[in-house]
Amino acid sequence: MQTWVDFAAIKQSVPLASLLRQCQVKLRCSGRDQYRGCCPIHGGEGREAFHANLSRNVFHCFACGAAGTVLDFVAAMEQCSLREAAMKLACFIALAPAPAGPKQLVTRKSNSSAPLGFTLRGVDTAHPYLAARGIRTPTALQFGVGFYRGSGIFAGRLVIPIHNERGELAAYCGRAVDGTQPRYRFPAGFAKSEFVFNLHRAAAAGQPTVVVVEGFFDCLKVYQAGVTAVVALMGAELYEAQKRALLRQFQNIILMLDGDTAGRRATAAITAQLRPYTTVRVIHLADGVQPDQLTTEAAREILQAGSRHPGTIC
Ligand SMILES: [Zn+2]
Repeated sequence: MQTWVDFAAIKQSVPLASLLRQCQVKLRCSGRDQYRGCCPIHGGEGREAFHANLSRNVFHCFACGAAGTVLDFVAAMEQCSLREAAMKLACFIALAPAPAGPKQLVTRKSNSSAPLGFTLRGVDTAHPYLAARGIRTPTALQFGVGFYRGSGIFAGRLVIPIHNERGELAAYCGRAVDGTQPRYRFPAGFAKSEFVFNLHRAAAAGQPTVVVVEGFFDCLKVYQAGVTAVVALMGAELYEAQKRALLRQFQNIILMLDGDTAGRRATAAITAQLRPYTTVRVIHLADGVQPDQLTTEAAREILQAGSRHPGTIC
């Protein structure tokens, strides 16, 4: 069935700025509401080639010639039609597409502070890199993690969707699979200190206890070991917003950070941060061991032992 999408409403409702932020485009202010930088569409040749006018909500790249509105931007980034781009953005801003017929706009109020303008298409959840890291396809599907072949800043990277506490897609992280730096690429302006990876799914598990790990792959591995209430801090620090979110959702915390100097130091610091408010148990991994390196069976054994005997395990 043909659906009606109001292109004009979408062009107005979705700020180009938020799409650019999501794509980690670094722009330099060159005048009132005028910005310049590398072009995310053709890959960046010409450090000043890409011009954006945020008050008019339009862009133009003088190197590759791409130009237009948020619709053109998404169509170019995702290599899809304008109509598909409009559908993606419409879903996102909840401008519900109405059936063809009445030519009036069906609007639920748009949310300009909405976290993300589109979802990446063509994410390969069966990419060999995942298997090499011991991640099974059903797990990759569940988390939406996979290899991205499209264009833009995540091209050729493993993309990992990050959601907010309400379960709305907030950003992607692009993980290099070939040693390229940076190993983890976050969109410009994305504050990972405000997010706890997998928090919305872990909270939905409805259990009082959560396992807290450092990285995305640690989280995926612990999940595969049968623990659905697992979250990652995306680093070896616990920020205030993360602490508050964890305390809102869980009564007990099991810390399982990396078995290295940074991990042990972080374990001590985070335990001290949380102890006044909640029960904290610690699973110490052996020297040099990280949760993501454990086989599913080993992770399961360690976690089962860890929940029986709080304290030093392994
Ligand atoms: Zn360009």
